[in-house]
Amino acid sequence: MFASIGSHGSVRGLVVRSEPPTGHDSRAGAWLVWTLDPANSPDLMKALAPHWRRPAADVAWVGEGWRHLVEECHRKVSARFPDYELLNIKQKYGVLAFLASPRPWSRGTSTWTDEALELEQIIREYTRRSESTCEYCGAAGELRDSRTMHLTLCDRCEARFSDPPRPGQD
Ligand SMILES: [Zn+2]
Repeated sequence: MFASIGSHGSVRGLVVRSEPPTGHDSRAGAWLVWTLDPANSPDLMKALAPHWRRPAADVAWVGEGWRHLVEECHRKVSARFPDYELLNIKQKYGVLAFLASPRPWSRGTSTWTDEALELEQIIREYTRRSESTCEYCGAAGELRDSRTMHLTLCDRCEARFSDPPRPGQD
C-alpha cells in the first residue's frame, strides 16, 4: 500500500510504503522505494510511454542511479524491436529487472521465440551492469546482500541508508 507518492523537490523520486515487501520484516515500518517518474525523468518517461502494456505505467521502480541503464536499455531494445512491449521495470534481488516482450502480446503467440531470446540477451547486459552500479547515485557499487532488502549500493550510500531505507534519508 502506498502511503504517499511524490518526489522531494525536483530530483529524487520516491514512494513511501507503509507495508514492507512480501517476506520482509514487518517490524521495519515505513520504507522507501526509489522511482524514476515523470517528475525526475520526464524525457525517459515520455520515451517509454508508447511501450507500456495497457494500462500504461508512468513509473519505473528503480533509483536514479540506474536511470542511464534504463535509458540505454530502452534505446537498444527499441532499435531492434521498435514496437516492443514493456511490462515492468523494477529492482529485483538488488539488480535491474527490465521486463519486456519483443512485440505486443496477442492471444496464441508463443513467448518462447528466437526474438524473445534475443531480447533477453540485450537486457541481460544492463542487468549485469546494474550489479556494479549504485542504484541511488550511479557510482561504482556492489550488492549488499546482508541487508534484509537486497540493494546494490556504493560505500557512501551503504553507510547513508538504513536497512531498509527510510523516508527522510535521501
Ligand atoms: Zn551511491
